[in-house]
Amino acid sequence: MEKFDVIVVGAGTAGCLAAKTVAEAGLKVCVIDRKGREEIGEKICGDALGEHHLKTVGLEKPQGGELEKRIEGVKVYSPDLETVFTIAYEDYVGYMLNRRLFGQWLLKKALDEGAILFDFTQCLEPITEKKFVTGVLAKNMKTGENIELKGKVVLDASGFTAVIRRKLPKEMGIESEVVNEDVEACYREIRQLKMETEKAEYCEIYLNQQVTPGGYTWIFTKGGAKVNVGLGVCMRGKFPNPRNQFYKYVLTKPLFEGSLLLKGGVWYDPTRRPLDNMVGDGVAILGDAACLANPIHGGGIGPSMLSGYLAGKTIVEALEKGDASKKSLWHYNRKYMEMYGAKQAGLDVFRMFLLESRDEDLNYGMKYKLLTEEDVLKAGLGKEFHLNVTETAKRVFRGLKRIRSLNKLRITVNLMREVKAHYGNYPETLENFEEWRMKRETLFREARSKLIE
Ligand SMILES: Cc1cc2nc3c(=O)[nH]c(=O)nc-3n(C[C@H](O)[C@H](O)[C@H](O)COP(=O)(O)OP(=O)(O)OC[C@H]3O[C@@H](n4cnc5c(N)ncnc54)[C@H](O)[C@@H]3O)c2cc1C
Repeated sequence: MEKFDVIVVGAGTAGCLAAKTVAEAGLKVCVIDRKGREEIGEKICGDALGEHHLKTVGLEKPQGGELEKRIEGVKVYSPDLETVFTIAYEDYVGYMLNRRLFGQWLLKKALDEGAILFDFTQCLEPITEKKFVTGVLAKNMKTGENIELKGKVVLDASGFTAVIRRKLPKEMGIESEVVNEDVEACYREIRQLKMETEKAEYCEIYLNQQVTPGGYTWIFTKGGAKVNVGLGVCMRGKFPNPRNQFYKYVLTKPLFEGSLLLKGGVWYDPTRRPLDNMVGDGVAILGDAACLANPIHGGGIGPSMLSGYLAGKTIVEALEKGDASKKSLWHYNRKYMEMYGAKQAGLDVFRMFLLESRDEDLNYGMKYKLLTEEDVLKAGLGKEFHLNVTETAKRVFRGLKRIRSLNKLRITVNLMREVKAHYGNYPETLENFEEWRMKRETLFREARSKLIE
């Protein structure tokens, strides 16, 4: 039986960054993925990445076709299409990726540092001994044989499937289930248009609660006349089938007349706050498996890479001390909450506000600037937006008929601030966690009762 310092389950963006980080430090690491080596990186995704995410994890700009097109920002359309917010700011400048090549680029970085890849290998479950995760049971998909791999730390980077997280013993203290309403069901196609579009340098987002309840439609132009187009709906109550919505409302737009389907499919995006705790004895959870995508726009490539990088750094320190316990891995939780989790949790509250907004409120709010472009920008960046007295007065005047929405917006802003501050105080050690978690629950219960129920 092969033994490793670290076993990474999943060679996605989170897994490759983690493998690279620990391999660089000289640890013996393997990455297992059910895909074949050449398919790693391929994924149903919007393929958009903010440039700053690369810098944060110390990556240079790839040069080999991984970046297909530069993007200057995002345009957000109101449901009636009458108002367009153009959000062009440093953090929204980025690239449309060739997703497969980008994944291959990250994988190569991990392998060049010495990580070993087991492709066509499906992880089945964690192996636990005396409450410590000590390895994984996996299946070689070519031979059908089961294999056991042993490691001092196992990382769940298996994306939404979260094959390790879902099968951990309860005492580990890691949430195993994620409720449906915290997930977007998405349908996405890559299409070749008849000709290139003119307004290609902005990603386009269309809000419409009829078409995409709790989500949005996106049209992102790639190189040439290729587009990445799709939609997501919140899996709340009786949510509509995203593929049906796509064919009924999106593909019928004149833009797609005579276009050619290159590939398409359904996948899921968790859009909520991070797991309260992402570590256990001998285990850590990364990327989508830990619910690390941005709750508002669903972007998860950046935070998943960040989680791989931070978990990797923490593991190197932990194994230097010869201690892979939960206590020793705790720093990863704290560091992620500080760098992205607090913003993410605040945005989960903003998501609740948007979830209950009706199309007419969004039309009105965007047209009369109850919600301004700057608010959207600040919300997206996780910055606070204050409704100061004069500003509030102006907005109330503009929105006499919409005072309820304005009140909700004010409540939302206050709750976002509280939630962010709470995550900013994420406990440095495991000892104070339970108290923190209970207050977190209280805050979100309050948010739900004021904004959703
Ligand atoms: C439709 C859609 C559009 C999106 N658009 C964007 C966007 O434009 N920009 C952005 O930043 N984010 C976007 N996201 C989110 C983004 O794709 C994810 O957040 C990100 O890919 C998460 O990376 P990850 O490494 O955690 O998981 P993944 O990229 O999903 O990687 C998981 C890996 O684990 C492997 N795996 C899974 N189960 C097993 C198993 N049992 N055994 C072995 N291997 C396994 C998979 O094959 C895969 O290689 C989108 C998501 C969706 C669904």
